[in-house]
Amino acid sequence: MGLDIAIAGGGLLGRLTAWRLLKAGHKVRLYEAACFKRYCGAAATAAGMVSPLAELVDSDRAIYELGTQSLALWPQWLSEMPGGMHSLFVQRGSMIVAHPQDSSELQQFASKLHYHQAPEETFELLAPAQLQQLEPALERFAQGILLKPEAHINNRSLLPLLLTEIQRLGGICVDQCAVSAVGEQGMETAQGRISADWHIDCRGLGAKQELAGLRGVRGEVMWVSSSEVKLSRPVRLLHPRYKLYVVPKPNQQFIVGATEIESEDLSAISLQSQLELSSALYSLHPAFAEARVLGSDVNLRPAMMDNQPCLHCAQGYIRANGLYRHGYLLAPAMVERIQAVVEGRAVSAEVFP
Ligand SMILES: Cc1cc2nc3c(=O)[nH]c(=O)nc-3n(C[C@H](O)[C@H](O)[C@H](O)COP(=O)(O)OP(=O)(O)OC[C@H]3O[C@@H](n4cnc5c(N)ncnc54)[C@H](O)[C@@H]3O)c2cc1C
Repeated sequence: MGLDIAIAGGGLLGRLTAWRLLKAGHKVRLYEAACFKRYCGAAATAAGMVSPLAELVDSDRAIYELGTQSLALWPQWLSEMPGGMHSLFVQRGSMIVAHPQDSSELQQFASKLHYHQAPEETFELLAPAQLQQLEPALERFAQGILLKPEAHINNRSLLPLLLTEIQRLGGICVDQCAVSAVGEQGMETAQGRISADWHIDCRGLGAKQELAGLRGVRGEVMWVSSSEVKLSRPVRLLHPRYKLYVVPKPNQQFIVGATEIESEDLSAISLQSQLELSSALYSLHPAFAEARVLGSDVNLRPAMMDNQPCLHCAQGYIRANGLYRHGYLLAPAMVERIQAVVEGRAVSAEVFP
């Protein structure tokens, strides 16, 4: 007999949790403050990279461990989607490059991978010929590091697909319904209290009133299209002052990002950020000069003070938050832990010490 589960927040974590719990035979209601049809939460702004190795260099090892678990779970789970996972999950590794004057950055990156004990078989320092063979567009770079198992997700397709699947499996999706509190007694909304066997808080920054230390970290991205530049995998450009990544998306489009600014300002991208992202992009390949700027996007990453994910479990409710810049990297591993608690296979202390 399935459990009755109410979830607050229909972003990445909320949708993925709802889908997996429905597949396991539970009854799920999903409550979202915004409108599902014009969804523009952090999960939609994200580049969708699943990059445990790139994160190992400057994040806690726990992020790497959880990310590696997610990397194995994504293809398994997405293969259960109608039509399979072909266009949703692309796993060809990711490429790290630096301009010749910044080659010490590349050496430093490789040294950090060794220092943090990244398995030897997961990354490779490429000679020019190897780099050209894998990414001909990166002809102006002499060296690169291939992070072999990394992947990226076509998140703008995944999010509506998850919603369709939730509804197909009998899940109830209610949008424009803000949940003001989540606790043992249930979930509070303007329409009244919602009671279930379990109440799961996936409101991201919307949980700020109840989760001390939660903050938003502003991220700006640009979308461009170019028929001249072809990239097969995400590329990260190392630079002493700013970071750039470019992730190829369907229809010759690229997402270029991302700034990380300690601010909860959601106003449009700044001129400075646009200039920095554009000039770094142009420095990757001169043909990007002719790329068409399709738009920009700004959102806030929900982050705890230590930038670690948090999973608080109590009798009848679970708070899952703090995915920061690691939403796609961590969500499947988090959802597995949420499901284990809900089904009584684990208690809080065991799932997330
Ligand atoms: C520019 C940028 C780039 C990123 N790139 C990557 C990347 O490449 N890889 C990666 O792994 N991660 C990336 N991320 C991070 C990722 O987007 C987040 O970690 C992830 O979206 C967090 O998921 P979440 O479900 O916890 O929160 P969210 O996705 O923010 O979802 C929270 C949901 O709760 C809803 N909500 C809020 N308040 C309420 C309320 N009171 N009642 C009901 N619903 C409510 C919101 O409307 C929202 O839909 C990026 C983020 C940004 C901003």
